Amino acid sequence: MLDKKTVLKQYFGHSEFRDGQEEVVDAIMRGEDALCIMPTGGGKSICYQVPAMLLEGMTVVISPLISLMKDQVNALTQNGIDAAYLNSSLSYTQYVRVLENIRRGIYKIVYVAPERLAVSDFASVCRGIKIDLLAVDEAHCVSQWGQDFRPSYLKIADFVNTLGCRPRVAAFTATATAQVKGDIEYSLRLKSPFRITTGFDRPNLKFEVLRPKHKFDELLSLLRARADKSGIIYCSTRKTVDEVGKKLCEAGFSATVYHAGLDDDVRRQNQEDFVYDRRSIMVATNAFGMGIDKSNVSYVIHYNMPMDIESYYQEAGRAGRDGNAADCILLYSKGDVMTNQYLIEHSEPNPDLTPDMQELIKARDYERLKMMTFYSTASTCLRSFILNYFGEKSSGYCGNCSSCLTQFTEVDITADARKILACISQTGERFGKKLICDIIRGSNRRKIVRWGLDTVPAYGELASHKEPHLRAILDHLEYEGYITSNAGKYPTLSLTPKAEPVLSGEASVAMKIAKPKAPDVRRSKKSTRTSSAETAAAATPDQRLFAELKALRRTIADETNVPAYIVFTDAALLDMCKKHPTTREGFLAVSGVGKVKLDLFGDRFLELLIAHKKDK
Ligand code: ADP
Ligand code: MG
Ligand code: ZN
Repeated sequence: MLDKKTVLKQYFGHSEFRDGQEEVVDAIMRGEDALCIMPTGGGKSICYQVPAMLLEGMTVVISPLISLMKDQVNALTQNGIDAAYLNSSLSYTQYVRVLENIRRGIYKIVYVAPERLAVSDFASVCRGIKIDLLAVDEAHCVSQWGQDFRPSYLKIADFVNTLGCRPRVAAFTATATAQVKGDIEYSLRLKSPFRITTGFDRPNLKFEVLRPKHKFDELLSLLRARADKSGIIYCSTRKTVDEVGKKLCEAGFSATVYHAGLDDDVRRQNQEDFVYDRRSIMVATNAFGMGIDKSNVSYVIHYNMPMDIESYYQEAGRAGRDGNAADCILLYSKGDVMTNQYLIEHSEPNPDLTPDMQELIKARDYERLKMMTFYSTASTCLRSFILNYFGEKSSGYCGNCSSCLTQFTEVDITADARKILACISQTGERFGKKLICDIIRGSNRRKIVRWGLDTVPAYGELASHKEPHLRAILDHLEYEGYITSNAGKYPTLSLTPKAEPVLSGEASVAMKIAKPKAPDVRRSKKSTRTSSAETAAAATPDQRLFAELKALRRTIADETNVPAYIVFTDAALLDMCKKHPTTREGFLAVSGVGKVKLDLFGDRFLELLIAHKKDK
């Protein structure tokens, strides 16, 4: 009789469960439903794949993206698991064959696109067999509040009802808002599910926000410092993707592009080039990456600020999935806020929603954009900011983000704050940040003179301040709740009750300001506070061996026509360097090596490892 630990090692090559996985496996094995919220890269698949191997009947996995199913099934097959997928990419003959095999009980796991559930031949085959588990991946697609709402997900509950015997239903997502959680439980009709939210922290990711004057120059220098690494650059529009992609290629980088405006063939080709390591840089819109499990992405750079923290964390989270140190860098400029406002205003209306609901969603989008902007301008720990956003507790200091690594001094800004607050009040709370900055700096723009704004008492009161500094103060006042900006196309600022005591001189305001010019301090700080993942990566035992292992992996990947990471992840290769096994037992102890991979690739890797040892 197999047990969960054996399955984990034998089929997936992992010696330990990650945070939360074992609890979910246990719940499913007890026969319970489950709602499992884990961040991207947290390892949700294992939570249903391990039970799938332990349960007697078949497991159906609902997954929204056709392009990913093939990869997932590929990976399972490589691990010696009988699996298949059903979606519109199959030819009729293939489709019929898969259905037939399902009927004969050949597969342990079958991936299905949600649209297929309504197709009667699939449903009727399912009625005739034993299905023990229905796993719903990317379950937030069932929620009309989420970004990726898919009406076909609403059919899942009906499908479950058509089955003779109700399987356990387990839902998985990385979106944690209460609204979405509630929608999932309700729409999938989960029965008092085992609920778990875990591991949003990804200690190996380093978070940075930069506010460069010239984004492209900054990007070039970031990429030059990461020449041998693979990474993703996200831009908010197709146009920017095309521009940045082109300029990078002209500058000699191995880059490719991805967005919804490209032909299907081109898009698929470009994605493969990146996933198969033929191109090391992917420049893309947010259309790229959902579920892409390329483990050796070592940086994700956001060329533009995304629309909300959910998107940011999901996209940034595609870095460092192998557990090695990786960078998540956001290049912020205030123009990004405007681009996003434009995108919110002009987003495609969802035909399934009433106008009232559309309005509500828009208001939420603005609210989320505001939080994203706070993140981009925060002087407090970025990791804590994100974890708090997702409802996890954190210490407030991580030592591995640009805020924690920058030295801040706390400055009393009461006098400036009072002048700014007065300015907002004197102009009737009718203006946004830009105009308030202009008035208080004493700009003589036409608009200001024409509207007589140069006569308000606050006009020119802070003429000596640079605009970015005033902006930073305004952002801070908003974040700290002295002012609010109403959400909308033309956000205007108004005072809150908290502003009163500042205006009357009874309260003071402090703000953290980065100490200018402390690069040396930063560097030395960094070296004393390296994260464990960074240390692990820095201590790669043998670069030559690592390179040879990579080359062998490349050869095998090409021969078997799968992405390199499906053969072995970088983490597995690094562990081979570290453990340097020369026997089959030794090889099996390497993280990421299971029974099947030992049989498939063990001899060839061992040959290399043994030869390398002799060389020494
Ligand atoms: P998610 O679906 O939550 O985004 P995946 O299931 O795709 O994440 O897993 C992400 C990565 O983590 C994969 O490369 C997988 O091999 C790895 N992984 C999952 N569970 C473990 C584990 N217990 N030990 C080591 N690696 C794991
Ligand atoms: Mg997944
Ligand atoms: Zn931090």
